[in-house]
Amino acid sequence: MNEIKHTLLKACVGILKYTKLHRLLCPFFVGNGVILVLHRVLPEKSYPRIIANSRIEITPGFLEQLIEFFLKRGYEVVSLDTVYERFTGAPGRPFVCFTFDDGYADAVEIIYPVFKKFQLPYAVYVITDFPDRKSILWWYMLEDLVLEQDPVRFSYGGQDSAVPTTTSADKEAAYDTIRALLLSVPSEQVGDVIDAVFSPYGMNPRDYEDQQMSWDQIIELANDPLVTIGAHTVHHYNLKQLTDDQVRWEIETSKKRLEEKIGRPVLHFSYPFGSPDEAGEREFSLAAECGFHTMTTVREGTLSRVDRDHMDRLPRVEITGRHQDLTLVDLRRCGLVALMRKGMARA
Ligand SMILES: [Zn+2]
Repeated sequence: MNEIKHTLLKACVGILKYTKLHRLLCPFFVGNGVILVLHRVLPEKSYPRIIANSRIEITPGFLEQLIEFFLKRGYEVVSLDTVYERFTGAPGRPFVCFTFDDGYADAVEIIYPVFKKFQLPYAVYVITDFPDRKSILWWYMLEDLVLEQDPVRFSYGGQDSAVPTTTSADKEAAYDTIRALLLSVPSEQVGDVIDAVFSPYGMNPRDYEDQQMSWDQIIELANDPLVTIGAHTVHHYNLKQLTDDQVRWEIETSKKRLEEKIGRPVLHFSYPFGSPDEAGEREFSLAAECGFHTMTTVREGTLSRVDRDHMDRLPRVEITGRHQDLTLVDLRRCGLVALMRKGMARA
């Protein structure tokens, strides 16, 4: 979406929020239910953050407000199994399903006690390299590096760099520059870039491992009927950049690895990143071949009966740190933001 359309969308959202007109429109577009996608729930930090990381976090207080928001509006909080049943059987009351992508440790340490208190279900889609301790959380290492060092100096590929990090704008730019470098190299060279950037400062990826769930934690969650464990591939690569065989391997291996650890079938999957840039027709049909009941994207949208023919590409509504705003959640659960986005895309 270009800049003009984005500004127009923001203006439309602003008008709806201000006039409360969405309350009149809501019944026409609300659909049968909504799947929410969240990532992390953490207490607010007292220091400035890098936006790319803070935007995937909400606070425990906002999570409770969100749950109460849906309960007050008569929604039933359901599991992914129930979402599937609602499409294959009787539609029932409007529903909301909370899903958390990736498998960060707060899924058990912070999110679990909240849902346990309410006695409500939720789902966690796990990248299996997290509990296998093969993934490096370089995005959090990089945040700490640019917040603490000025400038950030490193040598890579025969070139010495000194990236300034004096102001907060510099820090954001430094984060983006080094992130772009990490994303631009082939996967087998990512380890070399990580070494080059972080080793001079004595930073060790192992110090960040505790932010990912362990297998013991995943098994603990899976043993509670309130929690559904879903697959989210092994490496969290952009599937569109892989061959058919690689995509199949990513999906099937993560499904089997989780099943072997938790001792039950894994019937739900979410596409890494999940926007149309990372998941399209080929990825949908390859995932569908793996025997899941539901497969979710981050395409914005609520659910209606027509989605029963598209269980391989269910839309979700993303709740991010930038959207700790219940009026905006109200617009989104009514399907109005999705509607406006579709309109803008056609314009
Ligand atoms: Zn993810």
